[in-house]
Amino acid sequence: MDTELREKILVVEDEASLRELLQYNLEKEGYRVTLATDGEDGLLHVEENKPDLIVLDWMLPQVSGIEVCRRLRRSNETKLIPILMLTAKGEEADMVRGLSIGADDYMTKPFSVVELVARVKALLRRSNPARSEESLTYRDLTMDLRTYRVSRAGSEVHVGPTEFKLLRYFMENPGRVFTREQLLDAVWGSDIYVEPRTVDVHIRRLRVALNPTGGEDCRDYIRTVRSAGYALDDSAE
Ligand code: CA
Repeated sequence: MDTELREKILVVEDEASLRELLQYNLEKEGYRVTLATDGEDGLLHVEENKPDLIVLDWMLPQVSGIEVCRRLRRSNETKLIPILMLTAKGEEADMVRGLSIGADDYMTKPFSVVELVARVKALLRRSNPARSEESLTYRDLTMDLRTYRVSRAGSEVHVGPTEFKLLRYFMENPGRVFTREQLLDAVWGSDIYVEPRTVDVHIRRLRVALNPTGGEDCRDYIRTVRSAGYALDDSAE
């Protein structure tokens, strides 16, 4: 792809090893990556390079990640740039605040790089649908967004329209736990009243569709999170 067309990602992270890991994996996906080691440096990079997305660490020297986020959201020039925040374990409660000041998504360290790349793609797709991809993949699952075909390990899987929308939402946000209400809003829309139980019905159908034989060699990718909701996650039991 033409270098100029490739999307620019700014990584603001003070841990050198993590910076390198992110740079390596994002470049492998074809993104142009710039690096900043602290918040102030990060803000300068944003001004100079106008990135398409920012991976922003929460705890940073000089200016903290949250302050960087707040400043970016205040300016018309930068307020729409998607921000994926990184946080250490134990800072999760603070993340609620992080999201409320404008981060688009967050991940807790240590995280899976595969999942981070998937989240980055999802955020970029949301911010610029014209650039959107034509298919989604998760492990051995593939979803073709033009033909509406879903396949697992190469065999076609038949899903209804609602299950397709559910699966698409999960595949755009792998590993993330959604409540029934969030799934209702995302799939059915917030102006329609649907019983939360309806979600369970479609989740069940989706599970059966993805694993028709119920075989043990075939993992259940939909994880039920007790009293919380559901996630697409291959650690499902
Ligand atoms: Ca840090």
